[in-house]
Amino acid sequence: MKQIYLVEDEKSLNLLLKKYLEIEGYEVITFSDGMSALSRIHDLPDLWVLDIMLPDIDGYEIIRSIKEFKEDTPVIFMSARNEELDRVVGLELGSDDYLSKPFLPRELVIRVNRLFERMYGKEDTEIDDIIIVADYSISINQRTVNDQNKEIQLTNKEFELLLYIAQNKNIVVTREQILMNIWGFDYYGSERVVDNTIRRLRKKMDKLNIETLYGYGYKLVTKV
Ligand code: CA
Repeated sequence: MKQIYLVEDEKSLNLLLKKYLEIEGYEVITFSDGMSALSRIHDLPDLWVLDIMLPDIDGYEIIRSIKEFKEDTPVIFMSARNEELDRVVGLELGSDDYLSKPFLPRELVIRVNRLFERMYGKEDTEIDDIIIVADYSISINQRTVNDQNKEIQLTNKEFELLLYIAQNKNIVVTREQILMNIWGFDYYGSERVVDNTIRRLRKKMDKLNIETLYGYGYKLVTKV
C-alpha cells in the first residue's frame, strides 16, 4: 500500500483529504504543523502532500528538506497565497505538482493517482507479478516459469499448483487445500492427483525444496 504524508494545518481540510485518499486505497499519515513533518522526512513515504502556509514554518522549508534528503521523493503542494509565485517557487524547489486552494478533494486524488502512475506505475505491476523461488522466477500474468533465462514448460495444473505453494511458501498446505484450490470443489478424483503433480514439479524444477508431510500435505521451503 502506498503511503502518503499529508501536512495541512486546517483541521477539517486535513481530515477530509485524508478520508478521500484512504478511500482510494492509500495509507495516510497526517501532520498539522511543519516541525512534526520535518522530523519524519527520513521515513521516506511514497508521497508528500503539503500545504505552504503552516503555523510554524514555511512549507517551502519542508520541500527543501525533503528534496535535500532524497531528491526524487514526490511532493505535491497546496497553496492559497499568491498563486503564480507559489507555483513557480514550489516547482523550482523540485515539487512534482501543485494545487491552488480551494480545490475539490477529488482533484487531489486524481493528481495523486496520476503521479503514482507516472512514477511507480509500471515498475509496481512488474514487482507484483513476479515471485522468486529458489532460482526460478514465476510470472503470474505471463503464466511462465524461468530458470535463469530458460523457460520451463509446465502444464496448467502444474503451474497453478506451483503458484499456490509459492504463495504459501514456508507454510504447510494440506492435499485437501491444494485439491480444493487447484481442482475445485467439483473434482471427484483422489488426492493422488496432487501427489502426482508434485512429483512432476519436482522433476521439472529440481532446485525446488518441497517437503512432504506424509499423509497430510506439502510445504515449499525457501530461505527468504
Ligand atoms: Ca494552511
